Amino acid sequence: MPGAAQRTRMQAFALSSLRKRGVWRRAMSIAPHKYKIDEQTGCWIWQLALDSWGYGVTQYNKRMILAHRAAWIVSSGHSIPKGMCVLHRCDRPSCINPAHLFLGTLQDNSDDMKRKGRSHLCGHNGEKHPQVKLTLAQVREIRRIGKSEKAVVVGKRYGVNYRTISGIRNNRIWKNVI
Ligand SMILES: [Zn+2]
Repeated sequence: MPGAAQRTRMQAFALSSLRKRGVWRRAMSIAPHKYKIDEQTGCWIWQLALDSWGYGVTQYNKRMILAHRAAWIVSSGHSIPKGMCVLHRCDRPSCINPAHLFLGTLQDNSDDMKRKGRSHLCGHNGEKHPQVKLTLAQVREIRRIGKSEKAVVVGKRYGVNYRTISGIRNNRIWKNVI
């Protein structure tokens, strides 16, 4: 379980009240453990939970969301228009530097992915993301259940693989969820 200091930092990182231009950098400066700056590229590399494509996962308005999407929302002060994607100029999924992010259409996203020889859907909010099937509340529940039940049993109940359950239990994934 995270300590009090970490909880305070996480609260400071509750971004819902910070939806103004320029506040992302300030929000991140009170949570320096969340990202590391790559001096060569200027990328802000997310240090906490990643999804299976390497995108950072965080919480925003009490929901799981991809970290770069949260970065775009907070830095722009807008929500992401329906059907639009937040894409990376720098081609690093774990980068959350708003200066490296831009808004594109689904078509832009698929052209971009084809060019890079990948197949990846436009990043949706974490909960809707194909590989991120659990809600924040469920992750908390799974932590609370702990090892009193077999991972495979718990996994079946939540519709995820047992490895996801053990990853949550030992803080390998979603370690930013408190
Ligand atoms: Zn970058």
